Amino acid sequence: MTETGTEDALEAADRDAVREALVEWYEAGHRDYPWRRTDDAYEILVSEVMSQQTQLDRVVKAWDAFLDRWPTVDALADADRSEVVGFWSDQRLGYNNRARYLHEAAGQVLEEFDGEFPETPDELAELMGVGPYTANAVASFAFNNGDAVVDTNVKRVLYRAFDVPDDDAVFERVAQDLMPDDASRVWNNAIMELGGVACQKTPRCDEEGCPWREWCHAYETGDFTAPDVPTQPSFEGSRRQFRGRVVRTLKEYDELALDELGPRIRVDYGGDHGQEWLRGLLADLADDELVEVEGEGDEAVVRLRA
Ligand code: SF4
Repeated sequence: MTETGTEDALEAADRDAVREALVEWYEAGHRDYPWRRTDDAYEILVSEVMSQQTQLDRVVKAWDAFLDRWPTVDALADADRSEVVGFWSDQRLGYNNRARYLHEAAGQVLEEFDGEFPETPDELAELMGVGPYTANAVASFAFNNGDAVVDTNVKRVLYRAFDVPDDDAVFERVAQDLMPDDASRVWNNAIMELGGVACQKTPRCDEEGCPWREWCHAYETGDFTAPDVPTQPSFEGSRRQFRGRVVRTLKEYDELALDELGPRIRVDYGGDHGQEWLRGLLADLADDELVEVEGEGDEAVVRLRA
């Protein structure tokens, strides 16, 4: 799709509704990592450096142990570097240089920033071993002061949901545009969570109650390829495609009778794929609180849940 097409898609999607839906979904049930409960820049930096190479579930234990031993940036700066490196290898946290850099960065905070963490991505990136991604993550999660994160997960989500072309400059622009003002902490957490939990390489749109199903281009078309998913993931795509069509169609009409809806969902509506089939599809959508069916038999009408 062209850039203009993407903008149209986002416009049609109603940015505010898209934003609210994602934040609500995230706040209702995200994975509860301990660093998500703090806004301490030091603690967040440690979690970010550790998670660059290690699975998050393993990072939890290492992060707790690290902060028990060096609870503040001052404590880390005072530590013997070889002890920090020793801890890193004992915990199998990957390249030991990261431990050296973290120790060096703690010293920089004390000496160059008077013991106070800098709050902008640019200043944070002056710290040893802190690249643009980590600087932005710390600025977001500690100070709510970051730009929109664009990592592999976020690209996959934007590509699928809004048909954003596979072009880094466009991803950056669309991601920034979509992020609500002054909300980088919750937004970056939420969109990365969406990519990590629901919009995985093999998507779990319904299982995880993805809040963007009603706007998502992939959900509607059944094409779940993405920049890092070059071929269609193997799963029951066609049913999702029909579910997506139901949601899209009902957005256009306030309500429809079953036999008005059916032919708009599949050209071969009828026979084995008639009302009974449609009722099954609608029952799933009703269970997911996406649609409601009112009335019985041929009188039944379907609409989107408010
Ligand atoms: S509906 Fe599915 S494909 Fe679309 S954004 Fe959600 S999880 Fe990703």
